[in-house]
Amino acid sequence: MATHPIIERAVQQQRTLLTETESKHVLHDLGIATTQSQLAPSASAAAHIAAAIGFPVVLKISSPDIIHKSDVGGVRLNVHNAAEVRRAYQEIVRNATAKAPEAHIEGVTVQPMAKPGVEVIIGMSKDPTFGPVLMFGLGGVLVEVLKDVAFRIVPLSQQDADDMMRDIQGFPLLQGHRGAPAVDRNALQRILLILSDFVANTPVVQEIDLNPVYAYHDGALVVDARLILEAASA
Ligand code: ADP
Ligand code: MG
Repeated sequence: MATHPIIERAVQQQRTLLTETESKHVLHDLGIATTQSQLAPSASAAAHIAAAIGFPVVLKISSPDIIHKSDVGGVRLNVHNAAEVRRAYQEIVRNATAKAPEAHIEGVTVQPMAKPGVEVIIGMSKDPTFGPVLMFGLGGVLVEVLKDVAFRIVPLSQQDADDMMRDIQGFPLLQGHRGAPAVDRNALQRILLILSDFVANTPVVQEIDLNPVYAYHDGALVVDARLILEAASA
């Protein structure tokens, strides 16, 4: 499997953090559904893209130097019209410049507002002993406070992918809680297996963070994504 051109370019430029737009592009090409985001270098470009996508949209800061976009006031959800887009663009850039003055800011990304789903998180990190390890957990407070996550070593079997979902305490939330429909575990399993294959074949990828992924009754959608590459050895 050839390395994705976006990854090749980043390696050549000696960059280790792929932006959300780049990361989602790679995922899309792997066959994983994402809220595709487009980079707008100006407020009017953002308004144009938003009009083309259709409202409501989400605007986020785009910078290779900013890992947590919300932490710098860099995310605006549910933006409803062109005037709001322009205002949100300026606010996001102002916030990010104030909170991260050193960061190179490319502009702001525009993407569709996703319909709510069960928030899950899927990640990959490298263990010094076991190599690439995939992680699955429920998003939001459950992962931040309760660390309710499961790990499996790459390559994953179908059984591994299924087991890791069953392993977490929050599993009942995936099965449908209080009358909510069960989520599409096959779609989540598919993402885990695609990533397992991808990281096994692309050793330069050091870390993957899909947070959140929205799990639906039918399908799953990656709403935020980050790929981190190995730093080039000197
Ligand atoms: P951060 O870099 O801070 O993790 P995110 O892209 O994850 O930024 O955005 C923060 C939160 O905003 C997400 O956890 C999610 O709840 C919400 N969000 C982000 N993108 C979308 C979207 N396209 N549709 C709906 N909600 C979104
Ligand atoms: Mg996120």
